[in-house]
Amino acid sequence: MGVNSRSGFRDECGVFGVFDAEDAARLAYLGLYALQHRGQESAGIATLDAAGHLAVEREMGYVADVFDEARLARLPGRTAIGHVRYATAGASLLANAQPIVFATGRGPLALAHNGNLVNAREIRAQLEDAGALFTTSSDSEVILHLVARSKAPTLPGAIADALSDVRGAYSLLILSREGIFAVRDPNGIRPLSLGAREGSPVVASETCAFDLIGAKFERDVEPGEIVRLSEGGVSSHRFAFPHPTPCIFEHVYFARPDSLVFGKSVAAVREAFGARLAREHPAEADVVVPVPDSGMYAALGYSRQSGIPFALGMVRNHYVGRTFIEPKQAIRNFGVKVKLNPVRQVVEGKRVVLVDDSIVRGTTSRKIVRMLREAGAKEIHVRVSSPPTMHSCHYGIDTPTRRELIASSHSVVEIRSFIEADSLGYLSAEGMLEAFGRPQQAACTACFTGIYPVAVEEEEREKESALAP
Ligand code: SF4
Repeated sequence: MGVNSRSGFRDECGVFGVFDAEDAARLAYLGLYALQHRGQESAGIATLDAAGHLAVEREMGYVADVFDEARLARLPGRTAIGHVRYATAGASLLANAQPIVFATGRGPLALAHNGNLVNAREIRAQLEDAGALFTTSSDSEVILHLVARSKAPTLPGAIADALSDVRGAYSLLILSREGIFAVRDPNGIRPLSLGAREGSPVVASETCAFDLIGAKFERDVEPGEIVRLSEGGVSSHRFAFPHPTPCIFEHVYFARPDSLVFGKSVAAVREAFGARLAREHPAEADVVVPVPDSGMYAALGYSRQSGIPFALGMVRNHYVGRTFIEPKQAIRNFGVKVKLNPVRQVVEGKRVVLVDDSIVRGTTSRKIVRMLREAGAKEIHVRVSSPPTMHSCHYGIDTPTRRELIASSHSVVEIRSFIEADSLGYLSAEGMLEAFGRPQQAACTACFTGIYPVAVEEEEREKESALAP
């Protein structure tokens, strides 16, 4: 949901790395600051100093709260990687905060991972049978174990070896004495971009991190590619045949609109979703109102395409912390009101097209519709800039279970009635893909279509049990 509701799809993780730069830890701090929307539970930075020692600082909380001058001073060296995390696999514990650091026969390694492995459980069980001791419950640790155990003579060889065993989504940074290795899985499900700042290579989940530190975007790490940032410059090799299926939800909701993700402007793609939505589901209305913030660009696209004026009919409070003191007496729609409030002057007496990026459980949408009605809106036509979300994500997005997703058990007509809208229209999967500029086989749309580009055993089991008499 546009309100970044804790009841909805939750952001995943963000990674950042910089090689051979003055004040590397501070650059990582700034990079993570720009990636905060990708994970708010923990933040961490690992640095490598001239003597080859790794230092790491990790803590639960926001980047700005975790790091202060004293903490940054404990991170010496010209090379750093960092991570912000929202727990997608493994419990939300400090032990699971990243970067994970490991002493191996190849020297110390630190790892930062965005994504989720679909076969981590099996690999972990095999490794534990063989005597491996795990220090976290996160899926990312299996990669380091596999690297440490590989018989390959070189570190890049060991990394490629390890990756041949894992399946799923991974945009990875591995910090070592041989430089930073930046890796994207063969499907390139999560983003990872390369840039440069004053001659130092940088790498980040999203390009908005480059903007903050004055770095220039150069290119994406390709699916199935390992890029090494080292004394020798930037070098690349393929470890697997690429089969790109990037996550379309990055463009629907997760990524920041000022980022380039998978080579496309997130803002422009969201606008294209909105324009296409206006063609598929026109409405007789007076005003197009976004659910801030993530409905903004789609609403702009809807307005431009339909000619219905765009207006900011809801305001979002950006300063809502993670906890607030609930009022003793029940106040109607309190939970949503803390974050969103309608602008009566904009919506009163109007037929409103309300544009949001998705409907997850439907409860937040219903509260928003009720709030707009209480503020005097005459009609409310809800338009959603993605198809109904019916399936769980297994590639690094924390989704509610299928049962909790309203669209997995309700028709569009039933959802309209549940959220109490006058009409409801979702962007079609074909429309979304067309606006994204990729065919079905070249994108992950699994949470909408159930077509999983990397086989997921759990999903198969669920399908089988659904078919069982
Ligand atoms: S299932 Fe949805 S959220 Fe997950 S990777 Fe695919 S498109 Fe993205």
